[in-house]
Amino acid sequence: MSLQVIGDPVLHSKSPVIHGAMLAALGLDIPYTAHVVRRGELPEYLFWAKTNGVTGFNATMPHKEDLIPLLDEIHPAAKAVGAVNTVCLRHGRWTGFNTDGGGAVAALKDGLGMDPNRLTVTLLGAGGAAKAAALALSQAGAKQVFICNRTLGRAEELCAHDPLKRLTPAAFDVDTLSNLAAKSQLLVNCTNLGMEGCPSQFEDFAFLNALPSAAGVFDLIYHPAETELLAQARRRGLRTLNGLPMLVNQAVLALEHFLDRSLDRRPMAAVATNALRGEGT
Ligand code: NAP
Repeated sequence: MSLQVIGDPVLHSKSPVIHGAMLAALGLDIPYTAHVVRRGELPEYLFWAKTNGVTGFNATMPHKEDLIPLLDEIHPAAKAVGAVNTVCLRHGRWTGFNTDGGGAVAALKDGLGMDPNRLTVTLLGAGGAAKAAALALSQAGAKQVFICNRTLGRAEELCAHDPLKRLTPAAFDVDTLSNLAAKSQLLVNCTNLGMEGCPSQFEDFAFLNALPSAAGVFDLIYHPAETELLAQARRRGLRTLNGLPMLVNQAVLALEHFLDRSLDRRPMAAVATNALRGEGT
């Protein structure tokens, strides 16, 4: 039995550190390694993995969507998102899951003490991470989630995927963001703005002024540990959370799928967080 993370690039992935630490804490001698798989090579990889004792793998760029038609079964949450990040071999069949949304909700509960149930949320972005987070928030009972995106059509498309109809598309200009922030208890950034290496930044942080004083600001980015958005929110006295707890919690949920058993989530997340801190993350 062995586990992997596949992608291209993938050698920078934190997954081997996170999973390695959790497996060691559980006393399991199961190797977890990073494996470069280029776009277009998935069918060969799936054959190779099945015949070489790989019982599960995580997938990152550029495979999360491309895997969907190649797997034998897709969990409903992953089907709704249209992407998988965790694949397990069950009775000879490849089964795909998406744990990003569950990781985001778990991070919110642990990091900000917020249960999405009945929350009104302003969510920035409509890419892959936004879709996973937004659908999970809706599923977890959020009252309304405004999906604000530079490309409005993408926000509209994302909202159309929500069977519960709790997502509302919106524009990304500062006036719209301010109007929606005033109605929200939580603001979630799922754009790349502020990420290390991203050349762009928010043009104006005035929308943060409109958030109620008890609101939380959750940035999915974890490099840097404090984005300018979080720094600006902190200076305004708002509660903040970066993307590290989401990264760690999506891994705990993935490991539950790999091992096909439930784990004590918080101690596992703590083990993974400590391992990342030891690595300087
Ligand atoms: P993606 O699919 O490429 O989506 C990027 C989003 O950012 C889109 O909504 C895009 O808007 C928006 N955007 C990019 N540049 C912009 C700009 N200059 N102005 C306004 N909007 C802009 O990326 P993703 O995979 O969803 O990832 C998004 C972020 O989440 C990344 O920073 C990633 O590191 C983070 N993330 C964190 C975790 C975690 O575990 N913590 C997991 C996954 C992702 P358009 O649609 O208009 O292009």
